[in-house]
Amino acid sequence: MKRQGRETASRLAHKIFDAFPEDVSGLRFYILDCGCLYLQRVSPEGIPDPVIGVHREEGEVPCEICLLRAVNWRQMVIDEVLVYRIGLQVTEDE
Ligand SMILES: [Zn+2]
Repeated sequence: MKRQGRETASRLAHKIFDAFPEDVSGLRFYILDCGCLYLQRVSPEGIPDPVIGVHREEGEVPCEICLLRAVNWRQMVIDEVLVYRIGLQVTEDE
């Protein structure tokens, strides 16, 4: 679960960096025991977004634990991954 979560996180990070080249300089991912992935954007000033989003693959429904909010999701965090954009930028020669 941990490894799979990290793979999803890095794949997703690239997608988000592509979509928001100006607004996001880092992403903090929380990998949960239930398999859900929560994420928080970090602005170019290094300020974490107060809003934490839940990532789901297309067509996926929320898992029951998260849907019912049976427990605080923070108690289910098994891993945290912080991804920065630095080093990911690609320059094209033309
Ligand atoms: Zn969940």
